[in-house]
Amino acid sequence: MIEIEQQLRQLKQDGRKVLGCFPLYPPLELFYAMDITPVVLWGLRGAIKDTAESDRHLQPYACAISRHLTEFILSGHSSLFDGLFMYNACDTLRNLPEIIKAGLAENNLSLPLIQVHVPMVLPDRTDAAGYFKNEIQHLIAELERLFDVRFSKDKFVRAVETVRHLRNLIHQAETFVTQGNLSFLDFSNALHYCGFSSLEAQIRILEQLMAGIPDGAVPLPGKNTRPGVILSGILSPPASVISAIEAAGMRVVGNDIASLGRSYASMPEIKDDPGAYFLDFYYQHFPCPTLLYTGDRRMVSLMDLVGKTNAEGVIFAGEKFCEYEYFEFPFLSEKLKEKGIKTLEIEISAEDDELTSAHDARIGAFAELLKDGG
Ligand code: SF4
Repeated sequence: MIEIEQQLRQLKQDGRKVLGCFPLYPPLELFYAMDITPVVLWGLRGAIKDTAESDRHLQPYACAISRHLTEFILSGHSSLFDGLFMYNACDTLRNLPEIIKAGLAENNLSLPLIQVHVPMVLPDRTDAAGYFKNEIQHLIAELERLFDVRFSKDKFVRAVETVRHLRNLIHQAETFVTQGNLSFLDFSNALHYCGFSSLEAQIRILEQLMAGIPDGAVPLPGKNTRPGVILSGILSPPASVISAIEAAGMRVVGNDIASLGRSYASMPEIKDDPGAYFLDFYYQHFPCPTLLYTGDRRMVSLMDLVGKTNAEGVIFAGEKFCEYEYFEFPFLSEKLKEKGIKTLEIEISAEDDELTSAHDARIGAFAELLKDGG
């Protein structure tokens, strides 16, 4: 069980300024450079009792992610944050800051809400570079004002280098998963724990995860003969689903998960100008349906991942009510099948936690299909 509340309390006790962020791709390096600890408010399923508070404000057909993060903040956890940061993504999240603000105000609470607009346009069709750089300048000024901190180019470059080091460690760990030397469940749990830790702690967690696995480790005998699959979705599926996938004899050789692979894939060129750096970060980002302008590259990236990892199948773990992902599944599945790659779609809802055994039979059957080559 990941104790998110306890982790956040520890960050506060350590004297850190904690910024709750959503959705998944905030400008982390800038926050670290300004002595602010960002935590991305995704994967809060295990940190709340129910969705009673959020149900008063959000419709039940909003995705679990939005309901869980709203519940977490409104059900007595707002004091764990010094502010909330949000950029524009899907329609579900569009007015969430205002809803949270109103929900907090009912209890005479408030948090600074910081918002940035990422232009959702193709850079070669509409030049929004000037607009976006201006947004980043405003963000820096607002952070300086709210948190009594100062931006420094040197610190920014150091933060970019440290985040790059962290992402390289994650890639190294992912290679161990692919080889069968580390389970995907351990990898996914470690990264989820990292999400609520300081930058230095994240590096330690990754190093500990890989301790004991020698550099250049060869695939464990017999482990790499299991059929390889790619997991795709917004969140890593619940632990019970990952366990079912691994227990059925499949090996997760890659992931196209927004909170995992799509988040750590991006490593833009190191620059001391945050506007230029994050322009590259967003425009070159690994494709995700929440970054609308990346849509044309999505299929190419997924096929590239399939090719690089020799995956035989792709498992789409859809967040119930996430139109952004669901609109693409039929097209992606069709194109993958044309290339001989088998696909399985499972749906994860707000009510699913560890009670996901209904998926086990389909996961088992999918594994048999891959093993038979049928
Ligand atoms: S899961 Fe889908 S609908 Fe929910 S916040 Fe993410 S992109 Fe939006």
